[in-house]
Amino acid sequence: MPQFAMADRLAALPPYLFAEIDRVKNEVKARGVDIISLGIGDPDMPTPDFIIEALHAGAKKAENHQYPSYVGLRSFRAAVSKWYQGRFGVDLDPDNEVVSLIGSKEGIAHFPLAYVNPGDLVLVCTPNYPVYNVATGFAGGVTKFLPLTDANDFLPDLDAVSDAEWAKAKMIFTNFPNNPTSACAPKSFYEKLVKKCRETNTILVADAAYTEMYYNEAAKPISVFEIPGAKDVAIEFHSLSKTYNMTGWRIGMAVGNEGLVKGLGKIKENVDSGIFQAVQEAGIAALEQGDPYAEKFRAVYKERRDALAAGLKKLGIEFRLPEATFYFWCKVPKGYDSKGFVTKVLQETGVVLTPGNGFGSPEAGEGYFRIAMTVGKDKLEEALARLAKI
Ligand SMILES: *Cc1c(COP(=O)(O)O)cnc(C)c1O
Repeated sequence: MPQFAMADRLAALPPYLFAEIDRVKNEVKARGVDIISLGIGDPDMPTPDFIIEALHAGAKKAENHQYPSYVGLRSFRAAVSKWYQGRFGVDLDPDNEVVSLIGSKEGIAHFPLAYVNPGDLVLVCTPNYPVYNVATGFAGGVTKFLPLTDANDFLPDLDAVSDAEWAKAKMIFTNFPNNPTSACAPKSFYEKLVKKCRETNTILVADAAYTEMYYNEAAKPISVFEIPGAKDVAIEFHSLSKTYNMTGWRIGMAVGNEGLVKGLGKIKENVDSGIFQAVQEAGIAALEQGDPYAEKFRAVYKERRDALAAGLKKLGIEFRLPEATFYFWCKVPKGYDSKGFVTKVLQETGVVLTPGNGFGSPEAGEGYFRIAMTVGKDKLEEALARLAKI
């Protein structure tokens, strides 16, 4: 039989650090242990009914059965623009500054193909959603990781990047509120970053997936476009996934600089044919009527957050109280590394945590583990009780 060598870009993928954890998880499951998974960042609550009903109505329309437009329905793009205006006070032209995505992951993964040439430098704040550095690699780019550390309030040190590197950098990926650290960025950070990107001709790629999962009404996460001049340099990726419990639906958007939105659109035009229009109509319903539901989800997460924080404190685990996202970024107890600790917890308690070294740069997250509060409060309490035994 012939053998087919995979392309170099796949061979160059970073090692899959969760393989060992997956193996242990299956072993523990086979022993009959009831697993509590706090591992995956996927909302456990269902999509609100009115969104499902909008899908149902949309699915019955014959005009929705044909190829959609790759940029998305005009009505979906208009709903995105209106939502951004209502939530952030940001003006977006639905015709030129919005493109629909098959989930924001799709757009993030394709974006470097539009702007990164082989050898180009890309700055990635890390620990991070691994798609940023993987997509950079697929485009032939070279990632330079900017570490998010406790000492820096989990914000990148922009001054640690040399002038020569800023001059070389094609784009910088940021993600606030952040997965996995839950860090939020103040307006002053974005102001500095936008200024830097304008001065150095660097594309600012902001992943805003978690702006609606916040717990401090007085300090709501912002859009990068609240900063004057951001539209000259930035594209922002957003998603209905986390806000409205729609991860399975695959719908998101990229907004901002007209040229950058068009560049991404050029790749998409040649790769996919858009989102099923009935799903877009459900997305319109979510954007137009979903915010009271998002508020309810926040209340549920906040209650979980407070229970989890109290429990972890009792266990002597160090963390910062998340002001946004559904993640806790915790220090592993002394004497363990990330993988060792997570493996021990899984083997002895059946509780799945995520080792911190699996998010982009392994060095940046080493010594941490991530908890996703994606189970009910009772299960969280049970997980805490199990942790207390070891
Ligand atoms: C979940 C997540 C996304 C995107 O999700 P989609 O379902 O593809 O829209 C993007 N960025 C981060 C950091 C995430 O955690």
